[in-house]
Amino acid sequence: MTPGPTRPAGPRVPCIIVHGGAGADPGEGREELRDGIRAAVVAGFAVLERGGRSLEAVEQAVRVLEDHPRFNAGRGSVLTEAGTIEMDASIMEGDRLDCGAVAAVADVANPITLARGVLESRRHVLLVGDGASAFARRLGMPACAPEQLITDRRRAQHAEWMRKQAVPAGGGTVGAVALDRHGTIAAATSTGGMVGKLPGRVGDSAVIGAGTYADSTIGGVSCTGDGEATIRVVLARRALEYLKEADDPHYAAHVAIDLLVDEGRGSGGLILLDWRGRLGYAQSTPLMPVGWMTPARGGPEVPF
Ligand code: ASP
Repeated sequence: MTPGPTRPAGPRVPCIIVHGGAGADPGEGREELRDGIRAAVVAGFAVLERGGRSLEAVEQAVRVLEDHPRFNAGRGSVLTEAGTIEMDASIMEGDRLDCGAVAAVADVANPITLARGVLESRRHVLLVGDGASAFARRLGMPACAPEQLITDRRRAQHAEWMRKQAVPAGGGTVGAVALDRHGTIAAATSTGGMVGKLPGRVGDSAVIGAGTYADSTIGGVSCTGDGEATIRVVLARRALEYLKEADDPHYAAHVAIDLLVDEGRGSGGLILLDWRGRLGYAQSTPLMPVGWMTPARGGPEVPF
């Protein structure tokens, strides 16, 4: 691999990009999705604008979408074959490659905040199931009844799944990547996973390198789509390798999605940001809600 550009010291222009999951086009309710993405971008950018860290910005952006019932993360997560909720999330900061992740958690409203707690603990990288819940209590995060996270829409989708063993892949996983003034890149991803998944299944959104990766000398990535395919090709990390080689975020995003489709044998999408704050995204599915904000453009852009 040819060496990429070295990151010069000095302040950066902050930037954030957010996605709301690659999947089928629901046909209706796009305005609701746009409102959610816009709110997430604004919440994340507000952190960057006041000189805050990119780690905080991506956490705040993802929390907005975890709280929004239309997205497949936090409240509004899809259901397992057993009709239960099991959520995965991960977060990474690219200066020291600090990362934290949780998988198969059912009783926290904001899994991304729990993932950040794992990162801040600097003891482990990934906690799952009951152990993750116990750690949440240790951090003082209140227990949330899983029923509070289950929406009528997801109950109906589960019933349809039980009848047909297949429903249109709906997407709705959420993620964010940000660059702060200090030149630090962070990335975060949160999901309820795939509709009708087996209890205990863990997808790419909890796997550092597959669903999420950040390296402040190159950039940051958040992925969405078929988790098994994404893990197979270690998509987020591979996308950064393409970015380093090509020095072109748009190109890197598209080549990475070709990799997901051709070698991973799945479909999905990703967003990325390079160390200079240039963004890229690509998807192989009909829709992936995205939005971003930089100081140059004024308000958030939500072009979908
Ligand atoms: N990647 C997620 C998973 O496999 C699902 C998605 O992005 O829609 O759990």
